[in-house]
Amino acid sequence: MQSTMQDVPLLVSRILTHGSTIHAKAEVRTWTGETTRRRTYAEVGTRAAQLAHALRDELGVHESDIVGTLMWNNAEHLEAYLAVPSMGAVLHTLNLRLPAEQLAWIINHAADPVIIVDGSLLPLLAALMPHLPTVRHVVVSGPGDRSVLDGTAATVHDYEQLIAGRPTSYDWPELDERSAAALCYTSGTTGEPKGVVYSHRSIYLHSMQISMAESFGLSPAHCCAPLVPMFHVNAWGLPHAAFMSGASLMMPDRFLQPAPLAEMIERERPTMTAGVPTIWQGLLAELDARPRNVSSLQAVISGGSACPPSLMKDFEVRHGLRVVQAWGMTETSPLGAMAYPPPELDAEESWPYRISQGRLPASVEARLAGPDGRLLPWDGKSAGELEVRGPWIAAAYYGGAGCEPVRPEDKFSPDGWLRTGDVGTISPDGYLTITDRAKDVIKSGGEWISSVELENHLMAHPEVTEAAVVAVPDEKWGERPLAAVVLRDGSALTCQELHAFLSGRVARWQLPERWVRVPVVPKTSVGKFDKKVLRQRYADGELE
Ligand code: ADP
Repeated sequence: MQSTMQDVPLLVSRILTHGSTIHAKAEVRTWTGETTRRRTYAEVGTRAAQLAHALRDELGVHESDIVGTLMWNNAEHLEAYLAVPSMGAVLHTLNLRLPAEQLAWIINHAADPVIIVDGSLLPLLAALMPHLPTVRHVVVSGPGDRSVLDGTAATVHDYEQLIAGRPTSYDWPELDERSAAALCYTSGTTGEPKGVVYSHRSIYLHSMQISMAESFGLSPAHCCAPLVPMFHVNAWGLPHAAFMSGASLMMPDRFLQPAPLAEMIERERPTMTAGVPTIWQGLLAELDARPRNVSSLQAVISGGSACPPSLMKDFEVRHGLRVVQAWGMTETSPLGAMAYPPPELDAEESWPYRISQGRLPASVEARLAGPDGRLLPWDGKSAGELEVRGPWIAAAYYGGAGCEPVRPEDKFSPDGWLRTGDVGTISPDGYLTITDRAKDVIKSGGEWISSVELENHLMAHPEVTEAAVVAVPDEKWGERPLAAVVLRDGSALTCQELHAFLSGRVARWQLPERWVRVPVVPKTSVGKFDKKVLRQRYADGELE
C-alpha cells in the first residue's frame, strides 16, 4: 500500500530558505583575532542568492559543476556552503593544510573549474595554479595580494565585487534529493585521501540528527563555535545544522591558536564548541596559564581521535567545562556516535560511558566483524572491526571526474556496509568503545595491544603533555610498541619512571620497551597524531 504523504525532496536550499527566514535574526559571527564581524542569517541568505547568480551568470557554473573552497571558517564560507549545493552545483571543501602535491592531486582528481579562496591563502593557491589545468576562475574573498595570481590562466574575481548588485533572491531548482551536494576528501591519516560525495538528502537528515538533544542539541538558544575546520568533514555538519536549527555560529576564521581562541570564547560567549583533542590540549594549557571566563560553554565536543580521559577530567576539574566525546568519519558525514551516559547514573557511574565513543543515533546501524568475517556479539568484550550503514553513510568513493564511483573491498562489505577500519567493542546497551584503528593496533606475538589505551594512561601522568604509541618491527614478536612522549618544560622524568608508572595499569606484556622523548608529536593536516610518520621514523628500531 502506498502512503498518502507528500514527497518533498530534502534539499540544502530548504535549509537555506528556512534559516534565512524563520531564523533571520540568528547570526554568523566571524572572529578577526580582536573583534567580531556579524552577519544575520537573513543577510547570509541574500548574499548566498547573489553568489549563486554570480556563479551561474558570470562564471558559467551549472548543475553538477564542482566549486572548490580554500577557506577558513567564516561567514563567506558559510555563504558558499549554502549557495553552491542549493543551485545544484557541488561544494568541494579543500584542506588547506595538506601538502601541496596532495592538494593539487585532489583538485585535479575532482577537476574543479572554480575555486573560492580566502585572500590570506593566495600564496598557497598561486604556487599550485601552474599544476591546476581545470581551474578557470578564482574568486578571492577578503584582503590579500591578488598580484600573486598574475600570469595564471584563470580569471581572477573579487568576491564582494562579483556578488554586488545581483538579485537578492534565487529560484532554487527542485533537485533530486539523492544528487550530489558536497564533496569531501578524507584527511589521509592512514592512506591516500579518498573522496566522499554527500547528497542533499544525507546532509539534510544529518543536520536534523546533529540538532537533536542527544547529539549537539542545537536550538536558537545556542551559539555554536565550530573550531573543527570547514574543510574537515564539513565542520562536522555544524554549519548546515545551525542554519536549520537557528543556532548562531561563532567562526574562528584563521585564529585557531589557543590564545585568540580563549579570547574569542571569553568575549563572544558561545554555548558550545567542537574540535579535535589537540585543540583542547592547547586550550587547556592556555587556560591553565592565563585563566579566562569560559563559563558560557555548556559543552565541548571532542571528536576525530580518542579524547584522553585525563584531558576530559582536567577540563572539568580545573575549568568547569564538560567534554563530550563523539565518534565519526568523513565517510559517516561524520556523526556516528556520541557519548552521553544513561541519565539515571551519578557522576562516578557515568564516567565509563563518557569515555567510550558513545551510542549510535537511530539512523546508524552497527555491527562488529571478527577476523574471519563472522559477526560478534554486543557483549562489551568481543572486539572486531566496526561496520556501519545508514542514510548518511558512504556507499562508495568518488571515482574522479567522469568516472564511476569505486568500492574497494577493504572499505565496503559485499552487502554494502562501510568497513570503518576501527576496532572496538559494543556493550549490550549500545555503547561503542574504539580500542584502536586497525592500522594502528600493535600485533605482538598473536595478541593485540591498543595504542590508544597506552596513550591514555601515559597522558594521565601530570608531566606528560602528549604521548603517541606506534608499532615497530620486532624479530621475536612481529611488532612491539614504541612510545613517543612529550614532557612538560623542565621535566626530568625518565623512561624508567614512565615504564614503572605504566606497570600495574596495563599487562606486563603490553609495556613498551622502546621509548623516545620528542619535542612534539607530528600531526596530520587536521591535528591528529600522525602515526604514519612516527612508524616510518622508527621503523628500523633506531632511537634518536
Ligand atoms: P582520516 O581517516 O583521514 O583521519 P577522518 O577524520 O574521517 O579522516 O577520520 C576518521 C577516523 O578518526 C575514525 O575512523 C576513527 O579512527 C577516528 N576517530 C574519530 N573520532 C574518534 C573518537 N572519538 N575516538 C577514537 N577515534 C576516533
